[in-house]
Amino acid sequence: MYLTDYHTHTKLSPDGSVPLADMADAAVAAGLNELCVTDHCDLLELYGEPVDHYDWPPALEQYAQTAPRYAGKLTIRLGLEFGMAHLNPKLSRTILDRPELDFVLGSLHNLCPEKGGTDFYYVDYPDPSACYAALDDYFQSMTQLAVTDFYDVLSHIIYPLRYMDMPISLDRYHDVLDGIFRAAAERGRGIEINTWRGRTLKEWLPVLRQFKACGGEIVTIGSDAHTTDGVGKGCAQACQLLAEAGFRYLATYEKRKPVFHTL
Ligand SMILES: [Zn+2]
Ligand SMILES: [Zn+2]
Repeated sequence: MYLTDYHTHTKLSPDGSVPLADMADAAVAAGLNELCVTDHCDLLELYGEPVDHYDWPPALEQYAQTAPRYAGKLTIRLGLEFGMAHLNPKLSRTILDRPELDFVLGSLHNLCPEKGGTDFYYVDYPDPSACYAALDDYFQSMTQLAVTDFYDVLSHIIYPLRYMDMPISLDRYHDVLDGIFRAAAERGRGIEINTWRGRTLKEWLPVLRQFKACGGEIVTIGSDAHTTDGVGKGCAQACQLLAEAGFRYLATYEKRKPVFHTL
């Protein structure tokens, strides 16, 4: 089995503290074949303030200093977890215009600007109606992001559910998700299984099946590790889920092009 972790953060993410070399050591120890570093670039701050640039030099430098040292042991790719890209197409195009970039996760961490732009982590969810109000907004944003070219795979599609302390069904978003998945598939884009460091696995099975029914073929797997102990967590189990959902390949990326590995 080709083992990969395509969603990881280093000290260059505001919520990370570990250098890439430590994450790479953890990946080797976990038996991974390939690691992609996907530090954050969000076009909205935690409470909705707009962001007008991404500081590439530290990311390029960290990658250039680390990746070659693992040649023959671990393939390391340079990715970006890019949030709310649809809000500013001109800026998004500028940020992604990097020949070194292998992979882009398309994320939505915030409510839309009209609703205040707060990160879903900081939104209150006292009851189901508050949850569904946030999810209505979330999937509306995803519908807008899905038709852009500012992502390779849509990241952690069930993201806000992490913070909702009650069982919330996505049944009412079935048709919306069909539209999102068809838009992604038609553009040769994919989705990820985000294991959230091994905490979300079986939740992905219905999502994967629906994506496949919409013509989806590209799926990456990532742990969303922000520390070394999360690297690779749940990634092998996610491969099994992918096969169970009827997929035959796991995807990785090189210079924004998918590479397929038989499961
Ligand atoms: Zn994220
Ligand atoms: Zn992340």
